[in-house]
Amino acid sequence: MLNKEIYLDHAATTAVDKRVLNEMLPYFSENYGNASSVYGIARKSKQALDEARERVAKVLNSKPEEIYFTAGGSESDNLAIKGIMHANKRKGNHLITTKIEHPAVLNTCKKLEKEGYEVTYLNVDKDGLISIQELENAIRPTTVLISIMFANNEIGTIQDIEEIGKLARSKGVLFHTDAVQAIGNVRIDVEKMNIDALSLSAHKFYGPKGVGALYVRKGIIFHSVIDGGHQEKGKRAGTENVAGIVGLGKAIELIYDEFDSYNAHLIKLRDLYIKKVEEKIPYVKLNGHRTQRLPGNANFSFEFIEGESLLLMLDIKGIYASSGSACTSGSLDPSHVLLAIGLKHEIAHGSLRTTFGRDNTVQDVDYVVDNLVQIVDRLRQMSPLYEEVLKQNNK
Ligand SMILES: *Cc1c(COP(=O)(O)O)cnc(C)c1O
Repeated sequence: MLNKEIYLDHAATTAVDKRVLNEMLPYFSENYGNASSVYGIARKSKQALDEARERVAKVLNSKPEEIYFTAGGSESDNLAIKGIMHANKRKGNHLITTKIEHPAVLNTCKKLEKEGYEVTYLNVDKDGLISIQELENAIRPTTVLISIMFANNEIGTIQDIEEIGKLARSKGVLFHTDAVQAIGNVRIDVEKMNIDALSLSAHKFYGPKGVGALYVRKGIIFHSVIDGGHQEKGKRAGTENVAGIVGLGKAIELIYDEFDSYNAHLIKLRDLYIKKVEEKIPYVKLNGHRTQRLPGNANFSFEFIEGESLLLMLDIKGIYASSGSACTSGSLDPSHVLLAIGLKHEIAHGSLRTTFGRDNTVQDVDYVVDNLVQIVDRLRQMSPLYEEVLKQNNK
């Protein structure tokens, strides 16, 4: 009866592009040398690392020597925030972030608070945007770092990064951004945007899992968080994941080579989905900024239902989506992001994040919306609250 599978969770991870995989393969069993060694086969690994560094630098408009490879987005966030705060104790102990960051940033900040650092968590408005004025007011003489995500992984809202960078620079405060969701979906220029540090992760743009990068502007001091050998200029010990890094380099090059057509495709699907859901299903709310949002992201709250039930019933139909962030599923607490944009607990619980990708089609959108109409209706039939609302309306 059914063997359709529709993957709508590209913010959680993506499939490795075949062209990326092909470029990685020789670095497992043929060119397996340790890049730190000096003989021929090792030089091939070293060259591969250099090339990947150049590819990443080109996309960000940085210099290759400002790129440090890590084991993913979480590690890059830890390295940027802990690394910069620990190395700049003489300047101060204060850092500013937002209430809607990924746990890789939020829990890093919590850890720093336990060490005695002070953290300001900025509010966001109903669309998920911070206030530049509130940010400016939060800056103290002891503020070392501002860490604000480029684009939110749950609601897709894209911050005014250039404005934040300008303010940080004018106040002499360093600026880190978690750009894990933005890579491939937004054009980034660390010079023009005054970004001092930036985290990215390959598996969010059709590269392999477990490999990421951190850009840190030349001249900024930061400490390592993993100590050992002198790899990555002493900032990240451990024999390099050469195949993974090759994959990251190829994936970031490809996604920006194909930037216009890729993003036009995502925007078409996203907007069609949003339009159809709003037309066909009553009592829904689009979460996140309506226009200043990631091309592939749609996040809706469906009143009177539980997001978890929705996910299970969609799964039965072969539709894979998310109720918030993958990192918090498994817990019954509503998403900290949805609460921060002002949703009530019961509304936040009925939320569904769909993130479109390269292989999704217009037919997928139709199939998903048709199923969603039926499933939402069925779940609402079981809701006493919904029954009340219908009664009220019929009076
Ligand atoms: C996925 C994600 C991360 C974590 O990246 P990993 O490579 O999975 O560690 C960090 N920040 C954001 C915004 C993300 O979406």
